[in-house]
Amino acid sequence: MKFLITAGPTREPIDPVRYISNRSSGKMGYAMARAALDAGHEVILISGPVQIAPPVDARLIPAVSSDEMFDAVHRHANGCDVCVMCAAVADYKPATVAKHKIKKTGQDMSLVLTPTRDILASLGTQDRQFLLVGFAAETDNVDQNALTKLRAKNCDIVVANDVSRPELGMESDENEVTIFFRNGEKEKIARNSKENVARALIKIFEKMREKCLTKKS
Ligand code: C5P
Repeated sequence: MKFLITAGPTREPIDPVRYISNRSSGKMGYAMARAALDAGHEVILISGPVQIAPPVDARLIPAVSSDEMFDAVHRHANGCDVCVMCAAVADYKPATVAKHKIKKTGQDMSLVLTPTRDILASLGTQDRQFLLVGFAAETDNVDQNALTKLRAKNCDIVVANDVSRPELGMESDENEVTIFFRNGEKEKIARNSKENVARALIKIFEKMREKCLTKKS
């Protein structure tokens, strides 16, 4: 199968030297890419700026801002069997990007932010041929928010994790996730290394993709 995986944070420029970003390390997305490769799949890894080395056999496509990531995903999604949106795409970006470094004045200043385009939602069209997987990093009402996200973004699967627990999720080497399916079923993967969680997830995605194909034919 051919997997498209997004990973890492995005950087939304304010001026030539400043940006808005988040704490995503890219570890989960990179672990997903490695697990898919180990299972014999082809992987396109669209990655925001991270400090870890990409798996050598993945086709790495770097993307810095949410707009770059959006364009890269849309260039490569068609023809893929499974699209896994693991990236922590910024929700907002500065409404305008200053051409020159903004000077300090000693006064308060405000920045106007505008929503970024939602890459995952933009892929959730009725006629898509790939299995669509979203991730949901939540601090509260994890189950309810994940299910709402699944429906709103028209995904096949949402993988939810509780990022309010410092030992798990963002920046950590371990994760514990609950997988939500369209039919309302859910499945939990108990606390484990991101590598092992990724391996278990890839098996579930393979099975779901096969099921979708059987349904269509
Ligand atoms: O709505 P929220 O940001 O919590 O949704 C998380 C999911 O949506 C993740 O799969 C993330 O990669 C994706 N997403 C996206 N584009 C955005 C925001 C989130 O693809 N602009």
